[in-house]
Amino acid sequence: MDMFDKNIGKEKLASLELAEASREKEWNYPSFVRELFHGRLPWNLIYPFPEQSEAEKEIGREYLEKLKNFLTTHLNPDEVDKTGEIPYEVIKGLADLGAFAMKIPKSYDGLGLSQVNYNRAIHLIASYCGSTAVLLSAHQSIGVPAPLSFFGTEEQKKKYLPRFRKGAISGFALTEPAAGSDPRTMKTSATPTEDGKYYIINGEKLWITNGNIADILIVMAQTPAKIEKGKEKKQITAFIVETNTPGFQAAYRSNFMGLHGAKLGLLKFNNVRVPRENILLGEGQGLKLAFLTLNTGRLTVPAAVTGMSKLCLMIVRKWSKERRQWGLPIGEHELVASKLAEMSANTFAMDAVTWLTSHMADAKKLDIRLEAAMAKLFCTETSWKVVDDTFQIRGGRGFETGPSLQGRGEAGYPVERMFRDCRVNLIIEGTSQIMRLFIAREALDLHLKRVISIMDAKVPILKRIKDALAIGIYYSFWFLKLWLPSFALREIAHLPSPIKNHMLFVQQTSKRLARTMFLKMLIHQQRLESRQNILARFVDIGTDLFVISCACSYGLSLSKKELNSQAASPIGQKDMLWPPMAKAIELADLFCSQAKVRIARNFEDIRRNQDKAARRVAQNFLAGGYVWLENEIIK
Ligand SMILES: Cc1cc2nc3c(=O)[nH]c(=O)nc-3n(C[C@H](O)[C@H](O)[C@H](O)COP(=O)(O)OP(=O)(O)OC[C@H]3O[C@@H](n4cnc5c(N)ncnc54)[C@H](O)[C@@H]3O)c2cc1C
Repeated sequence: MDMFDKNIGKEKLASLELAEASREKEWNYPSFVRELFHGRLPWNLIYPFPEQSEAEKEIGREYLEKLKNFLTTHLNPDEVDKTGEIPYEVIKGLADLGAFAMKIPKSYDGLGLSQVNYNRAIHLIASYCGSTAVLLSAHQSIGVPAPLSFFGTEEQKKKYLPRFRKGAISGFALTEPAAGSDPRTMKTSATPTEDGKYYIINGEKLWITNGNIADILIVMAQTPAKIEKGKEKKQITAFIVETNTPGFQAAYRSNFMGLHGAKLGLLKFNNVRVPRENILLGEGQGLKLAFLTLNTGRLTVPAAVTGMSKLCLMIVRKWSKERRQWGLPIGEHELVASKLAEMSANTFAMDAVTWLTSHMADAKKLDIRLEAAMAKLFCTETSWKVVDDTFQIRGGRGFETGPSLQGRGEAGYPVERMFRDCRVNLIIEGTSQIMRLFIAREALDLHLKRVISIMDAKVPILKRIKDALAIGIYYSFWFLKLWLPSFALREIAHLPSPIKNHMLFVQQTSKRLARTMFLKMLIHQQRLESRQNILARFVDIGTDLFVISCACSYGLSLSKKELNSQAASPIGQKDMLWPPMAKAIELADLFCSQAKVRIARNFEDIRRNQDKAARRVAQNFLAGGYVWLENEIIK
């Protein structure tokens, strides 16, 4: 990131350098979104919409049936919300069903579910009880099973993985009181013993989901720094830590607005002695492990929030017909109707993104770091809007708790609980802001790789001039191509309308996005890194283009199926009626049309915005210039 370093503070530079050193630098597989950011539309990477084999669908269907039967007979989500406890029998019952080993390979005693089937399970559970979904997903999307399966040695896998089939619980401990989005500020240390056989961990971890009940944790800690090229390099290392090790203490359980059954708070490590063989992936590789784990780990959040949004659809569908005001069912008043339409189209798009990215993870033929981050960003922000609209459509009942509604004889729809449970999804596993910065960095990677050598003062001047000429020639052609009108790609030219028009729009707009990004890079150079609003607009345009593509692919695939109640869907819901062709296309069409409006607004905002004025006001604000606005309040 040398090209960015002049105008930013030392600390920020150090944080960026650490993140940079830990990111996966190679792109060993194609990426649909990376291509989009460079003005190309590789439609064949996402169409036909992937589908599970019949055998896989059946495995998923049978498992979901078991989970559903168990949960609806043993677990009351409102009780979990009220008491803050998921009963022991429920955790035990889930363990008996192998729910703590869903993604663990069969060779280690796990269920060996695919990413799609695992996400189907979390999608189902999240529609019923957010706390239970979080218990299971934090445990195996980011907790010990995921990084251990990916990066563990054979000995480590044999030792730990079978324990999860018996119900051992895990978590992933990165965050600390002073280290949230920025791992550089991490203080927890792991000091090697003199004989080098052990590490002694000291420090605190905050809000580690399941941390207060976990048997085993992945703990990120600082091991002694290395000197590279005369510069001290921070080393963050991942350790497998058994929580019965002396010195570990679950010191405090936090209370939250939602997810009341989740058990997390402050963990203390006081001289916790961990054997060297418990290091995962290698010394100094901890952050890399975290980033790589999150690439697929993040896909469970979209599945969970999509499940939750579908319950919202069910609630507003019933309520909007049943509730009459001003002589009409409320759903027939245009201001409510437009919300119903948008919620349906958005949930359809979330479904498309969730299942497409889950299939991509199973296929292992694509680099999905950008797609997973966009799925997380889009689905969490959109589901929050879906829950908020559900709240609004329910009127005062949205604010009343489910048990209270039931207590006076009404349907106990859990909108108030979902509202509280849902919001944190925009924070966990990478805040929306961090997701945007991460996506922007990866999107610009190809350009940065090309120009970095000519900006590097350490490279001999002649080589830099030669490289600059070669790059200049390359970009002249590349840039010209982005301006030339293009014919519709052969693969999309034959698509039925309106899908064809939407994909033509994606084809054209990806070129516009690529050239706008490139121009802004030339104009702002190193300052672009701190122009977060501009970067965020690029990311939001790219995300909308990706989701439009997913929705079109999904809509087309669904529409090609016969209207036949026996046919199984791409995610294997055998009992789901196939939507008539027009209905799936209708939802895709509305989503795409609304996304196009957002894209136009974002391009306009890149051109003309209030960023400068907002920066000035924010600076004044931080300097205390508007304290007078806080008058007549109780402080
Ligand atoms: C319920 C819950 C469960 C959690 N589970 C886990 C877990 O299992 N494991 C774990 O390790 N952690 C967990 N966390 C912690 C979570 O990952 C962090 O809260 C998250 O990473 C954000 O860190 P922070 O809260 O300290 O916010 P901060 O990093 O302090 O950020 C505060 C605000 O500033 C913004 N911001 C920060 N840096 C930048 C920047 N460079 N540019 C622009 N904006 C920026 C953020 O987006 C945010 O809006 C959990 C948290 C909660 C509440």
